[in-house]
Amino acid sequence: MRAVCYLGDRSVAVENVPDPVLPGPDGVIVAISATAICGSDLHIYHGGLGAPGTRLGHECIGTVVEAGPAVSGVRVGDRVLVSAVIGCGHCDPCRRGDPVLCAQGATAAFGTTLELPGAQAEFIAVPAADLFVRRIPDGVRDDDAVLLTDVLATGYLGASMADITPGATVAIFGLGPVGLMALACAQLFGPAQIFAVDLVPERLARAAAMGASPIDATGGDAVAQIVDATKGRGVDAAIEAVGHDQTVLDAVGVLASGGTASVIGVNLSSGLPYPMGLAFLKRLTLRAAFASVPMTWPALFPLLQSGALTLPEIFTHRLSLDDAARGYDLFDRRLDGCGKVLFSL
Ligand SMILES: [Zn+2]
Ligand SMILES: [Zn+2]
Repeated sequence: MRAVCYLGDRSVAVENVPDPVLPGPDGVIVAISATAICGSDLHIYHGGLGAPGTRLGHECIGTVVEAGPAVSGVRVGDRVLVSAVIGCGHCDPCRRGDPVLCAQGATAAFGTTLELPGAQAEFIAVPAADLFVRRIPDGVRDDDAVLLTDVLATGYLGASMADITPGATVAIFGLGPVGLMALACAQLFGPAQIFAVDLVPERLARAAAMGASPIDATGGDAVAQIVDATKGRGVDAAIEAVGHDQTVLDAVGVLASGGTASVIGVNLSSGLPYPMGLAFLKRLTLRAAFASVPMTWPALFPLLQSGALTLPEIFTHRLSLDDAARGYDLFDRRLDGCGKVLFSL
């Protein structure tokens, strides 16, 4: 089969690799019909993280073509989505859809190691399919099903951890695909105003079109602009979808007394100079988490089916999988207004 392989610094290619085999009696093989590039794929693409030969990708939908005898939740022929992140599939957290907290320490994302080949390919092998693969519900669009495999789950987590109450003010730092998903999900909680912060004009325009108040951060004064706009008060909730220390500090620094900052941008920093005095005196809350994707599906499926949650058009570029190298280059350098790339097969 064809699969997108990381070759080394800023280089990917579609290569012929062996077809996957069933990963045990609880696993399935999915024939992939659509698969996206994620910002976190770029961490590998930029070099230094993944081993050359890593088969990339973790956001896909497709059709089950083979299922082990212990699989009961999906059948051959079902149209399915696949969680970007999986765990051991046996422990209590995995069983409740929370593989990020896998008690066996087996948390893993597809397409990040040689051991767990990725989703930018013709087929993918998924273990513990009853936990990590789900039939695409009627009324959920294919594009939205792809987003449900990672970025929508992450954006929803960001919004739900931010303690947004009706009438609240919210700030979102970072308007890439995850930030825009967080914006759409924040609106479910009834805030009065959402400030949307980024450096890129197209992203600010997209957030404005979704009803947010755009804040251009190019002058480095995003927090001051929001504090001014709220007459010195700050916001009740801030969502950080960038993954930099400075934007975490901005998310905390922009909070009103009693506010909550919710960090979903990947950040493994050990040297963040947390403003302890501010947090102590203003009674602030900081939450940070990596999304356990399947745990968000019971809320997100009905929200999408009913139309209570509508998502903006996120995929700016639709390419054939054979154009993977061009897709990565477009997405990496944000050429041609590229926001997110979807490959179809
Ligand atoms: Zn992703
Ligand atoms: Zn587990």
